[in-house]
Amino acid sequence: MDLFGNDIVQESIDFIQKSFGNETAFLGFSGGKDSIVTEHLFKMSGVKYELYYSFTGLDAPQVIRFIRKHYPHCNFLMPLRTFWKNLSTHVPPSNRLRWCCGYLKKMPGLKLPHKKRAMGIRAEESSKRSKYGRVNYFEKLDHTHYYPIFHWQEWELWEFIRKQNLSYPILYNQGFDRIGCVVCPYHSEPTGTLHHKYRKRWPKFFDRFEKGISDLFYKRQSQGKEMFYETPQQFLDAWYLNNSARWYAPSIQEKQTEKCLI
Ligand code: SF4
Repeated sequence: MDLFGNDIVQESIDFIQKSFGNETAFLGFSGGKDSIVTEHLFKMSGVKYELYYSFTGLDAPQVIRFIRKHYPHCNFLMPLRTFWKNLSTHVPPSNRLRWCCGYLKKMPGLKLPHKKRAMGIRAEESSKRSKYGRVNYFEKLDHTHYYPIFHWQEWELWEFIRKQNLSYPILYNQGFDRIGCVVCPYHSEPTGTLHHKYRKRWPKFFDRFEKGISDLFYKRQSQGKEMFYETPQQFLDAWYLNNSARWYAPSIQEKQTEKCLI
């Protein structure tokens, strides 16, 4: 029951049953609290489903171990090119050019035949997500996405996890609210605290990212490209604080953005 006396659990189960009926659902799984709850609701609903995890290569090892242990039936979707390979030929990921989400998270699952897909997306997560609606049809792909826990609040997830005695990654007890990619442009914010926290826990990912950025910076410079900052370190310092940090000098950057947004 939520604060208003509505049975959100039963409502979500009804939603799953009504949306999928006898069809087998593709269920996107991240190993996080939203996914854990959504998977359990599917189990309770009796609707058939297959679990899919998109491996990015930036995943926290603790989460991978958790999934392998508690969800051995989960299928791992591997990208055609790793994040590191892509980083060597692209621009650094940013909030405007989030190529990594597309390449690593979305593309590997596109060829699977499931037309109906469920995900643990919630309106509360961001104002952008709250505008999605609970069911979305993507015409180009002919896929429909369903979000069974769209209206759930975070405390309701934890209450459900506690009541159902579900396991969850230890990272939540160690101060990590989000357990997705270790190095991510979404972690950039004006104090740099979030990146600092992740770096402290997983320094090797940051070493590799910084090496990748440095190699890419000098490669582009040797190709005659005009960079916005004078050194890769200056760029990194800016990127950690702001995921829109400039990479190329303004004129090239504008063209690159246009190319990627087309
Ligand atoms: S690093 Fe961030 S933006 Fe890139 S794939 Fe991971 S979650 Fe998406």
